[in-house]
Amino acid sequence: MIDTLTISATRTAASRLPEVDFDNLEFGKTFSDHMLVVDYHDGEWQEPQIVPYGDMSISPANSALHYGQAIFEGMKAYKNKEGDIYIFRPADNLHRLNASAERMCMPSIPEEIFMQGLRQLIQLDAEWVPSFTGSALYIRPFMFATDGLLGVRPSDSYRFMIITCPVGLYYNKPLRVRFEEKYVRSAEGGAGFAKNAGNYGAAMYPTKLAQQEGYNQLIWTDASEHKYVEESGTMNAMFVINGHLVTPALSTSILDGITRRSVLQLARDWGMPVEERKVSALEILDAHAQGTLQEAFGVGTAATIAPIAVIGYQGQDYTLPTVPTDAFSNRVSGALTAIRSGEAADTHNWMVRV
Ligand code: PMP
Repeated sequence: MIDTLTISATRTAASRLPEVDFDNLEFGKTFSDHMLVVDYHDGEWQEPQIVPYGDMSISPANSALHYGQAIFEGMKAYKNKEGDIYIFRPADNLHRLNASAERMCMPSIPEEIFMQGLRQLIQLDAEWVPSFTGSALYIRPFMFATDGLLGVRPSDSYRFMIITCPVGLYYNKPLRVRFEEKYVRSAEGGAGFAKNAGNYGAAMYPTKLAQQEGYNQLIWTDASEHKYVEESGTMNAMFVINGHLVTPALSTSILDGITRRSVLQLARDWGMPVEERKVSALEILDAHAQGTLQEAFGVGTAATIAPIAVIGYQGQDYTLPTVPTDAFSNRVSGALTAIRSGEAADTHNWMVRV
């Protein structure tokens, strides 16, 4: 990491750490003591600052609230047995954040601000990074428009921030999902490849309908025909068909997941045939009928690997075969955990020391 920028830090007068019950962490509810704040105005990023985590004030006319110029990232830091802290592929998140920024007409974040901001914030809150198996510090970098102006145009001013929260073991209960045949998350030419806030708000209603029908989440399908698999909830979707790892090819409507990229890399390392291409709902059901659909799972930062047990389509549920312990999804999940905890060699240099 670049090591030049020193960021001024105002430390909290009273750490909240003693109040935290690390055995019962609800995702995204408990925040570490400090946060990074960097403002952008007059065409440049201002001095980054680390300050105590807390509320802030914004104009009621804040254009992010009205027109949605708001983007975010999600990543994790891990503590190994020696107590050293590593972040998983942070440069990939910066790259994606800047791709989102470009799509939303927002300024890009310089690498030095992002990396040094991350590093110094996490060093200061090092005690907030849990070390028990499966735990991590979830990191949420985000940027939003700050002009107090109701004109519909890109804001002139922005704020970039990083907040963090400790998260415990994520229990991967096999999911019940269904193909979405009416609503769309995103369309080709839209902003599905970006992590802009509006994508997530618009996904809530169709997801709520599926949950009312007893599913955990949706498998989004393409906007024009509802025929091809896009993603599963806020994860990329993967299938093992006849020993091949099959996943939808990236497009402007699919988020380029960093877990997806990592799983594909490990599969290739292990000599497994990998297919990034269009995958139709009918192909999945056909493979299921023929007994060649071996595994279906979602991949993303929150869960890493979330196995799918049931897939619904046109009112009917299809139950997938039970996944053996040595199945690809279990092996790749174990391999990622071992790399992150420092127990396995990090041959691709994914872990970046804080
Ligand atoms: N798709 C969507 C829509 C997401 O929000 C996420 C979570 N960032 C993913 C896929 C998985 O991406 P990643 O592996 O980078 O967390």
